[in-house]
Amino acid sequence: MPTTRLAPSPTGALHLGNARTFVVNWIMARQRGWRILLRIEDLDGPRIKRGADRQAVDDLRWLGLDWDDESSRQSTRTDVYGAAAHTLLESRRAYPCICTRSEIAQAASAPHADDGAAVYPGTCWGKFADMAEARAAAGREPAVRFHMPDETFDFEDRFCGHRRFDLARELGDFVILKGDGTAAYQLAVVIDDAEAGVTDIIRGDDLIDSTPRQVLLYRALGLADRLPAYWHLPLVVGTDGKRLAKRHGDTRISYYRERGVRAERMLGLLARWCGIAVDEIDLQQFTEQFDVLNVLKDRIVFTPEDDRWLTGK
Ligand SMILES: [Zn+2]
Repeated sequence: MPTTRLAPSPTGALHLGNARTFVVNWIMARQRGWRILLRIEDLDGPRIKRGADRQAVDDLRWLGLDWDDESSRQSTRTDVYGAAAHTLLESRRAYPCICTRSEIAQAASAPHADDGAAVYPGTCWGKFADMAEARAAAGREPAVRFHMPDETFDFEDRFCGHRRFDLARELGDFVILKGDGTAAYQLAVVIDDAEAGVTDIIRGDDLIDSTPRQVLLYRALGLADRLPAYWHLPLVVGTDGKRLAKRHGDTRISYYRERGVRAERMLGLLARWCGIAVDEIDLQQFTEQFDVLNVLKDRIVFTPEDDRWLTGK
């Protein structure tokens, strides 16, 4: 059965950009009869904010969203992810890496990806026979890195259309298991999505370069028959063109709720971002009027006027 997932990460409160993505994801699922899973992505231990998981669920319900099932929290699935990383080590698709963050940053000859993050220069590739050897060399637990082939990668995004990546130069080898034994995002979502039978992934286009990484993981883990379709929506940005963040003022859903903003009003703003000309709208009308083809392909700009309109000031 076609399945999608709402996957909030409790590293911070949901803001208007998250709200847009979750609402569009939910509407598309309800329009097309997809099953909806809720999954709390709480892997990022130290960055998890206490109570943020409950707040996220509460915000989603306030918007009117519901779901058909809940999957396990990622923090309870360390063994499953560890076993997958082990499989990839055994098949030589992944390797132990003992580099520190600063060593990677200092590898100045490394090309740089779009987002400014250094592409890993491959220092540890082929260096150690196994984890034990890397552990002995470093005196601590190594990370596990997935090796990217020197190839171009093409895929069809359902929303953005055709995209091409140079795997080795633009993305580079990436961590799938950290030195502390927790799985990295890329590995965890692939395992979880494959296991839950997720067929359609809708998310912001800041995650578009995760797609080649995730597709390669599906293939390397023998899960190619479960590859989902990807829909990357344009990011919601501030007037400076940067992704919504604290510098744009408080755009958390909870901030507006505390100011007495009604869900219909927030949904009205989200609807306008989807090409529906309304003031306020309820979720049912939004679902009836929504057409993914009308969603603008350009980045959506959240302005101070939008903020004043929401709060009625
Ligand atoms: Zn390394």
